[in-house]
Amino acid sequence: MAVLGAGLAGRLCAWQLVRAGLRVALVERGGPDGVGSAAHVAAAMLAPLAESAIAERRIVELGTASVDLWRAWVAELPEPVFFQEDGTLVVWHTRDRSEMSLFTSRVRAVAPPELVAERMRALDGNGVAALEPALAGRFSQGLLLAGEGQLDNRGTLRALLACAVAGGLHCVWEAGEIEAGDLPALGICARTVLDCRGLGARAAWPGQPAAHGSMPGLRGLRGEVVRVHAPEVKLHRPVRLLHPRYPIYIAPKPNDLYVIGATELESEDESPMSVRSALELLSAAYSLHPAFGEARVLELNVQRRPTRPDHLPAIRVDQHARIVRLNGLYRHGFLIAPAVTEAACQVVQALLDDDPAAHAVPASVRWPGMIAAALDTVAGSPVLH
Ligand SMILES: Cc1cc2nc3c(=O)[nH]c(=O)nc-3n(C[C@H](O)[C@H](O)[C@H](O)COP(=O)(O)OP(=O)(O)OC[C@H]3O[C@@H](n4cnc5c(N)ncnc54)[C@H](O)[C@@H]3O)c2cc1C
Repeated sequence: MAVLGAGLAGRLCAWQLVRAGLRVALVERGGPDGVGSAAHVAAAMLAPLAESAIAERRIVELGTASVDLWRAWVAELPEPVFFQEDGTLVVWHTRDRSEMSLFTSRVRAVAPPELVAERMRALDGNGVAALEPALAGRFSQGLLLAGEGQLDNRGTLRALLACAVAGGLHCVWEAGEIEAGDLPALGICARTVLDCRGLGARAAWPGQPAAHGSMPGLRGLRGEVVRVHAPEVKLHRPVRLLHPRYPIYIAPKPNDLYVIGATELESEDESPMSVRSALELLSAAYSLHPAFGEARVLELNVQRRPTRPDHLPAIRVDQHARIVRLNGLYRHGFLIAPAVTEAACQVVQALLDDDPAAHAVPASVRWPGMIAAALDTVAGSPVLH
């Protein structure tokens, strides 16, 4: 079988399918370093509670299940991958304190109450300092969202690929903008195709009627992040700084690297980061800790998040063409990908087994609307397979 796209979803699926004993080809328009994927620039925070302030309950549930899967999967990878579950620290400047009540009321409205009770803890200034000594005296209040995690995105992409290749994965790099129909020309004869091309699969996700015209079935949401080297700042866990325009986070990575993000703009623009975004992100970091003033800016990254109209992931199955499409990971790819890719791999397996109920995925890994037949267009008219 073939997997299209070697971003986050493609690599995770290829790895799982190889592990399940299948012969798999992974075909990618770019190179093995992942440059060009959203996964390459992501902060890779695994923060179901923090995200519940702006997401649906389903994302919290998928995220909570996925953090458990990441823990197990990272332990299986042959090379060490930076992964931690030391929680998220949420802080705010006095002028933004109204954001705190908005944040907590959204979290309480969306996340399961038992999760909130177990994981959300109010902190005073001493509590903030005990968790992050570098912030001592800087914030008189904060919140700890215990158990939340983060990964090294690039290390994870590298390790997944290495492990899958060691298991027999065949890779085709620099393949250009391919479709499933291009595979034979690449010498690949696949009984089933799993499409993980993110935004590159846009044409396969038909638009939906909306109040004013039509809503694209898949669109890109521009996100900008700054990567800095800041050896003088010692943060141990991701810190969210509540901000009226968008949630700003500062995520520590190995070797004194920090990812500061992220803007979220309703735009397909792929041009370099704007001065306004750079100023806002870097000022936020500097306001968190003045030692960020001496940090070195390594990268100013821009990518678009593959987003469906409901901002939820989806798996679409075209049984006739034997194509499974996974998409819509939006801003939660690292958070939810293990649960979503596991479900997609079960659909692939059912298709390979010629199971007439190829959508039959156990209820335990299914969420409402998760799997549906693909809507194709033949001679201009929609056909539901
Ligand atoms: C700025 C930013 C910050 C983020 N931070 C976080 C975070 O902290 N936590 C979190 O959970 N998520 C985060 N995300 C979201 C996460 O990165 C995405 O949800 C995830 O990467 C989507 O995975 P994907 O595999 O669907 O797409 P991608 O990772 O974009 O991979 C798609 C792959 O398909 C390839 N491709 C495309 N078209 C073709 C074609 N025609 N032929 C062959 N190959 C093709 C691309 O080159 C790419 O390699 C962030 C995203 C951005 C942009």
